[in-house]
Order: sequence, then structure tokens, then C-alpha cells
Amino acid sequence: MFKAEVKSKIEEDICILVNLDNHPWNYICECGNASNLSVKEVQNSNAVFISHTHIDHFVNFDAVIRHQIGIQRRIIICGPEGIAKQVQSKIKSYTWNLIEKGAIIYEIREVLSENEIKIFEVEPPLWELKEKGGIQTNVIFEEKSFFVTAILLNHKVPTLAYKFKENDTIKIDIQSSGFKGGRWVQELKDAFEKNDNAKVVTVEGKDYNASELFHLLRVQEGDSLGIIMDHAASEENHAKIKEHFFKSRKVFIESFYKREDKEQAELNYHSYSSMSGKIMRQTQVKEPVPVHFSRKYKEDEIKLLIEEFKTALDPEY
Ligand SMILES: [Zn+2]
Ligand SMILES: [Zn+2]
Repeated sequence: MFKAEVKSKIEEDICILVNLDNHPWNYICECGNASNLSVKEVQNSNAVFISHTHIDHFVNFDAVIRHQIGIQRRIIICGPEGIAKQVQSKIKSYTWNLIEKGAIIYEIREVLSENEIKIFEVEPPLWELKEKGGIQTNVIFEEKSFFVTAILLNHKVPTLAYKFKENDTIKIDIQSSGFKGGRWVQELKDAFEKNDNAKVVTVEGKDYNASELFHLLRVQEGDSLGIIMDHAASEENHAKIKEHFFKSRKVFIESFYKREDKEQAELNYHSYSSMSGKIMRQTQVKEPVPVHFSRKYKEDEIKLLIEEFKTALDPEY
């Protein structure tokens, strides 16, 4: 199961840290100023996901570099078209005469379209941007137990909305199977995954066709977590959100404005409280969380904004 924590205080820009049970690394989503993001959390991160590079989502990337330099690992940065050059520009605004090759490598993955990623690398001491080719996929990041896909939304610039999806796992209830556990369990699971009905599986000295034992297995659906940042409250964006995040367990969604400031939201290609709530209801998200509020609101106004979001989750609304 994914764990996700908002690392920015209510008056700060947005930053969310994601990790997964039994997994060693963190994943940083958005690089807004976030005083609750610790040095250790940044150092233990394996990838950074940026929706778009408006300053409130990218300003703290300097701190990420600051804490990661010297970790001698490859860090993946995912973002929209153009982010590779922007990462390089940020890095190049500092002096690096004491840093040597191998201190870190940033691999930058630009999402050009929902099925096309362009890959770059940049490393010390010269920090030249090297093009590493492209791949045709909507899987922007993959680990053994999960993967991340993204859709492009319109916020007057393209912004990426990310979905972390844990792999489904095959489970067996040995106790009610009547058999003893053993090597056959893994063989049966493998056959199930490969759709290999005829595979012979030997259980306690007797041979079975795998398909005869498939009824002992069940598929446990992997967890899902969404990060939807700045986007216009448009029909087109909403249709994409509903499709990509349908029935996700938990989704963080920008709710930049209060309902009464809906016109301002339209003008700035943003969403607003009641609309973000309504979309989360229609997407059947189990745990929707409103985030990323305009700095013009005081704390009590933000409370109201969150109330408006919650009200819109109600099917009667
Ligand atoms: Zn923005
Ligand atoms: Zn923003």
C-alpha cells in the first residue's frame, strides 16, 4: 500500500512524499517550498515527479539538488516537455568546481504525449544535457512492485497528473486448499500469470493440470494513488481524470480556489473546491484529498474551501 504525506505547510507551496510498504525509496511529487521535507527524505528519494514548472511547483528543486549531490546514484526526474533544459539551467546557476563525475546522475524523462517519452541525462562536472533517445509508452516510471503512468491536462500549459499503481498479486489460501504448501505454489502462480493451463503441477506426489488448481488462487488488486495538480475545470480535463483515476484508492487534487472565486479559477486555468470534489465523486475515488490552495486565503477561508470540497463529495450534492 502507498503512503503519501503532504510535506508543505498550509501556507507553503505543494510537495507530497510518496512511499510504499516494504520498499526502500521515497518519491517526491512536486517541488514547492516544503519545510517538513527532511534532508534524509530527499536523500532517500529515487525519483522526482513534477506536474509543470510554474514556480510554486519547482522552486524547491534547488534544495533537492543540494541534498542529493554526492549520493552517487541515478535519480529520475519526470516532467513535461522542456523540463530537462530547465533542470540543467537550475544546476548551471551554481559553481561546481569541487564536484566530480559520479557524484550523481540525473535522468530526465520528458512526457511529450501520453505515449511518448524523451530521455535525457545530465551529470557533473560539466552538466551537459545528453539526449538518450525516446520510448513509446505511457509508463513513465517502473519499479519491481509498482509503476507510474501519467496523463496530460490543460492548465494553459500542459501539466502531468500521475498515477502510482501497485502490481496485482496472486494469493493462495493454503489452509482451505487441503494441501500442504511447497514449491508447487509458486509453480501454480507462475502458470496462472502465463495463462499456462496445461502446465503440470505436482502436489503431494500427484500430477495436476495447472488449470485444475487455478480455483485455489485469487488476484489481489494493487493499491493506487493519484496526484492531480493544476488544471482547468474543463470538460476535457474532467473526462481524462475520470478515465485515468477511476476507482483509485487515494487521490490528491488541486483545489486552488473557493467556489465563489470560480471566475478567477476559469481565468487562471485552475480548478476550485466544489468542482474538484464533484470530479472526485464521479471518479469514485475512495479517499480524495484537496490540496494546493491559493495564498490569498487565510486559514479560516481554507477551512471553508475544504468544507466546500467535502460537501461536493456527497452524492446528494
Ligand atoms: Zn500552475
Ligand atoms: Zn500551482
